[in-house]
Amino acid sequence: MSPRREILAEPGGAAPAPAEASAGVAARPVAAIAHEGELALEANLRPRSLDEFVGQQELRERLSIVLEAARRRGQSVDHLLFAGPPGLGKTTLAGIVAAEMRANLRITSGPALIRSGDVAAILTGLEEGDVLFIDEIHRLGRAVEEVLYPAMEDFQLDIVIGKGPTARSLRLDLPRFTLVGATTRTGLMTGPLRDRFGFVARLDHYSPPELEKIVVRSAQLLGVELQPDGAAEIAGRSRGTPRLAIRLLRRVRDFVEVRGTGVITYDTARAGLDQFGVDELGLDQLDRTILETLCIRFCGRPVGLSTLAVSVGEEPETVEDVYEPFLLKSGLVMRTPRGRVAAPAAYEHLGLPVPEEGAGPQSERGLVLPTLFDDERAS
Ligand code: ADP
Repeated sequence: MSPRREILAEPGGAAPAPAEASAGVAARPVAAIAHEGELALEANLRPRSLDEFVGQQELRERLSIVLEAARRRGQSVDHLLFAGPPGLGKTTLAGIVAAEMRANLRITSGPALIRSGDVAAILTGLEEGDVLFIDEIHRLGRAVEEVLYPAMEDFQLDIVIGKGPTARSLRLDLPRFTLVGATTRTGLMTGPLRDRFGFVARLDHYSPPELEKIVVRSAQLLGVELQPDGAAEIAGRSRGTPRLAIRLLRRVRDFVEVRGTGVITYDTARAGLDQFGVDELGLDQLDRTILETLCIRFCGRPVGLSTLAVSVGEEPETVEDVYEPFLLKSGLVMRTPRGRVAAPAAYEHLGLPVPEEGAGPQSERGLVLPTLFDDERAS
């Protein structure tokens, strides 16, 4: 019988983290979390073996040794933890582990496991060798975690029957299974849970040539004609994230089917991506508004987080957790003790003259500047 795949709860499908909860944020063309309905579209494009999985070379080599060793010993694989930003391939790797071990895959997510009984029911339904994937494992409640500890360590489940003085504790044997956890926030995981994983790997953002390979592979699977420099253009605007590369490919495919000949070339890729508001660096309109606010409205002065958030019409947490990380990582914005400052690259990107060092923006532009209060942390 071939291995089964059972989705108990959509990965990442439960309540989104607070900063990503607003509909506008989640639907951004460059959001790293999956859009509504996107997981189903991605399913057909997921690599099914480690050989098909592009990039993350060190991780792939280590994982292939772990899998091969378990196969040779005829045992289940040690528990695995994949950490890294959304859209980099953690769910895909869980599927690959199950496929390579010819094991059933059961998928659930931290926020979907509310009571200890939820996880107990899943654990008692497992079969020998099954892979249990828990997405967003850092969002598990304490009570659920405590059921997992003996299950992961000794393959045992402690159940309490009854209440009060007559309560009895019962210990059940569980089949040997592999827990694959995925987290975007390792720092929020408790030490005892993290320590129970035998293999912990961090996924990094992908290089443009790696994303290009993913775009080419996905275009083949989608049956879209794609020229190499069209693929490079899509890859270059994908913020190092496969999920985004695939989403932008689908948008450009829509564009060329409606406005072009159906072939993705350098020019049609550029035109399509411009049409959807994703620029050469992979910034969307709100990213650019943040840069314009720092460079033009506040003339290059340090701006506190809440001032910046009010100016662009967003919540401070959303600016800090959703927009800022990529702007910081790309070297467009800097955090200073006095607030956020646009880096020279931000001026260049907006086509503005870079202010000379030392020459205050007021003297340069003769503007009267508003007084800014740095009312919040800017570390
Ligand atoms: P995560 O679980 O980290 O949020 P996913 O595993 O759901 O990310 O990946 C998102 C999309 O990107 C999927 O469609 C998957 O096929 C694709 N993808 C991710 N990593 C790779 C890779 N290394 N090679 C090819 N496609 C990938």
